[in-house]
Order: sequence, then structure tokens, then C-alpha cells
Amino acid sequence: MKIGVLSIQGGVIEHIKHIESLGAEAVEIKNIEDLQDIDGLILPGGESTAIGKILKERNLLKPIREKILSGLGVWGTCAGMILLAEKIENENNTYFSVMDIKVRRNAYGSQIDSFEQEAVIDEISKESIPLVFIRAPYITEVGPEVEVLCELNGNIVAAKKDKILVTSFHPELTENLSFHKYFLSMCNNQGELQ
Ligand code: GLN
Repeated sequence: MKIGVLSIQGGVIEHIKHIESLGAEAVEIKNIEDLQDIDGLILPGGESTAIGKILKERNLLKPIREKILSGLGVWGTCAGMILLAEKIENENNTYFSVMDIKVRRNAYGSQIDSFEQEAVIDEISKESIPLVFIRAPYITEVGPEVEVLCELNGNIVAAKKDKILVTSFHPELTENLSFHKYFLSMCNNQGELQ
């Protein structure tokens, strides 16, 4: 199994290391050609406006969107979640626009813009998982087919729909591999991608 990690900003190396330590192959995605033969795609964090601009310049928005719509498993962490959302609060702009959620950027404000908390997320692991938030967004609305995986202090911070996974936080910045394991099983699950 081969997982692409969008290599523009953010925890690219950290995602690659986690995927590799689970025994799968990981490749950096910088251009259209890199998208061939991948079984899943991770969109790391960073600054969504900057990543969006570069995606546009490299003509990557459309081909990646098409791949997601035709069934490629995708996981957006933090800014990656913003890139996947169909709606962004107070902005007309969207990027891949494939996930039926509305997100609020920098939702925790400047006072507590970065923090760490633990939570048990039943779908992911029986053990408590460390969640690292960095100028994080959260989800303010979900469509009817979206499965909420984690709500923290009343805010939705992880969700899934079909083969699209989004998290407000950064599992790649912790030692815990549960989310990466879960994503690999999502990419493996549905038939042709074995
Ligand atoms: N605040 C960033 C944004 O709005 C996301 C932060 C992150 O990815 N760590 O794009």
C-alpha cells in the first residue's frame, strides 16, 4: 500500500515516518505525476491559504479533487481539513470542497491557540489518545452523512464520511499511531485498493 503525503507545508516528514513505521510505503506529493498509483493521500497542516495558493499554482486542485471524488482515501489534518471542507466560515473561498462540513478557522482564538488534550475516540482506539491542537480549526456544521468521531469541549474535532477523514489536531506530532493505522485500514477496506 502506498500513501501520498502532500508536500507543501507542515508535518510532511512526521506523517511519512508514521506511515512507514506501520509497514506501508509513503511518498511526497509535489506535482501531478506523483499522484499516480497512490492508495491514499494525507493533507498535512500548515496555513490553508498558503497551501491553497500553491496547489492552484501547481495545478493540483482539480486532479486531486477528481481522485477524491472517484474514491481515493484522503485524510486532512488541521489546515488539511480546511482544504477538504465544503464551507469555510466567513469566507467565500473553498479548495477541494469534498467534505460536507463547515469549519471555523483559528477557532480557539489567540489566547489558547495551541494546546494538548487526551481523549478516548471509540472508533479509533480503546486507549486514550493525545490530541495536539495548533491554531486549529473546528467543525461547526456536519451534513447528514458525516460521522462525528470526536467532540471535545462541545466542538467537533474529528469526522469521517466514506473515505474522507478530517481531524482538527495533529496525530503526526505525537508518538501515537492509532489514527495512521485507522487511515490505512480505511484506504485498504473498499475493494480495489488492496
Ligand atoms: N490556522 C491554520 C489555517 O487556518 C491551520 C493551522 C494548522 O494547520 N496547524 O489554515
